[in-house]
Amino acid sequence: MIREHCGIFGISGNPNAVKNTYLGLYALQHRGEESAGIASAYNNEINVYKGLGLVADVFDIQKTYKISGASAIGHVRYSTTGNTTLSNAQPIIAHYKDQTFAAAHNGNIVNAGVLKKRLIKEGIKFETTSDSEVFLKLLIKNLKYGFEEAIKKSANIIKGAFSIIILTNKGKIAAIKDCNGFRPLCLGKTEKNYIFASETCALDINGARLVKELDPGEILIVNKNKIKSVKNKKRKKSFCIFEYIYFARPDSIIFDKTVYNVRKKFGEKLAAESSAKADMVIPLPDSGNYAALGYSQATDIPFELAMIKNQYIGRTFIQPEQIMREIGIKIKLNPAKEILKNKEIAIVDDSLVRGSTIKMTTKILRKAGVKKIHLKIASPAHKYPCPYGIDFSDKKELFAANKTIDEMKEFFKIDSIAYLSIAGLLEATGIKEPENFFCKACFDGIYPVKFDIGAGNNSCV
Ligand code: SF4
Repeated sequence: MIREHCGIFGISGNPNAVKNTYLGLYALQHRGEESAGIASAYNNEINVYKGLGLVADVFDIQKTYKISGASAIGHVRYSTTGNTTLSNAQPIIAHYKDQTFAAAHNGNIVNAGVLKKRLIKEGIKFETTSDSEVFLKLLIKNLKYGFEEAIKKSANIIKGAFSIIILTNKGKIAAIKDCNGFRPLCLGKTEKNYIFASETCALDINGARLVKELDPGEILIVNKNKIKSVKNKKRKKSFCIFEYIYFARPDSIIFDKTVYNVRKKFGEKLAAESSAKADMVIPLPDSGNYAALGYSQATDIPFELAMIKNQYIGRTFIQPEQIMREIGIKIKLNPAKEILKNKEIAIVDDSLVRGSTIKMTTKILRKAGVKKIHLKIASPAHKYPCPYGIDFSDKKELFAANKTIDEMKEFFKIDSIAYLSIAGLLEATGIKEPENFFCKACFDGIYPVKFDIGAGNNSCV
C-alpha cells in the first residue's frame, strides 16, 4: 500500500472558519491519517489544536464548532517512518516580535537539510524536524522586505515539491505553490469567502465552487475576502501524475480533470493495449475500482466486485512490518468464493509498488479456486523512487525495478501480467501536450527538479 501524503486547507474571513476547516480536513482525510491540526486566528493571536490520529479522533465536533476565528488553516499528515510525533504534526507556528505565523504544508522540500544547516549557523533555532519549519524560519528572516516579498523570496529559495498555506495572526492567508506545481492546491469560493484546499472534495463539503487550480509558482494572498496575486516566476509544469493514479479522491477535480473519469480512461487504455480472455474483471478494492470499470466497459467482460473489502479495518493494520501487512490484507480483503470458483479472471489495480498486497491477494484468489489470473496494472511499471514527497523513496523496495515480467508471474503465481504504457497513461489523461504537463519520474526516471534524497527526509510528505 502506498501511504498518502498531506492534505491542506485554508479559509479566510468567515466566523465559521474553524468549522469549515474541520469539514475540509474530513474530506481530505485520505491524504494523511497520522495527525490532524487546525490553526485559527482570533484576537490577534493564533491558536493551534492538533493531535495524532484521524480527524474524528483528534477533534471533538461539539467543541471544535465552538472555536472562534475568522480565518483558519488545517492539515492532515502522513510522514515518512519515524517522524510521527506531535511536534511534527501541523500546522506548525513561529513567532517574530508581535507577529505569529502558522504553516500547513504538503510536499517535500528537497534542499531543506542544506537550508536548515545554514539557518542554524546564523543562530536560528528549530523546534521540529519538519521541512515546513524551514519555510517559516525563512519567511521570518525575510520579513524585513514586507510580508508579500518575504513569502516570494522564501518560496523561491526552497526547492522541490510543495504547496503551502500560511496564516498570520491578523487573519491573512497566503497560498503558495512550487515553481513546478507538483502537488495540487486549488482556490475555491463561496458567496463571500475564498478557500484553499488540496482537492476540490474539500470545497464541495463547504459549498464552495472551484475557481482554479493554482499555477506553478503562483502565490495568492487573501485578506478580509480580498484576493491578491503576487507576481512570481513560472517554470515548466510538472504536476504529479500519481494524483490521478492513486492519491486523489475520485470525486475531486485535480489539474482540471475529474479523477474518476481519468482513472476509468486508464482502464480503457489498458484494455486497448492488453486485453485478456477472462470470465470477469474484478478490481482490487478500492484503488482499482475505476480502472477496472473502464477495463470492463471497454472489453465487454462483466465487472464483478468479488473481492470484498472490510470497511472497518481502521489504522491498526497499517503497519510497516511484513507480517502485519499480511495479516492486515487478510483482514481487509475476502473473496466471494462462489463467484470466483473455476473462473478465469482479470484483476485490476491502479499501481504496483512493492507487490506485497498483490502477492497476498493472488494467494487468496488461488485458495478461492480461481482457475486463471491475469493481473492488469492501470499505470506503467514503477521503477524509480520519488523524491518529491511520496512514500516510495528506495529503489530496492520497488517491485518492477527488481524483477522481469517472467519473474513477476512466477512470484505472484499468475498467468499473465500487463502494465499500462507510459504513452498510454499520458494519452488517457486527455491533457494536450502531457509531456509538458506532468511529472512521471517514477516511471521514466526523468526528474524535473534535481534532488538530494536524504537532505530533506524529515519532511511532511
Ligand atoms: S516521481 Fe512520481 S509520485 Fe513523485 S511527483 Fe513525480 S509522478 Fe508524482
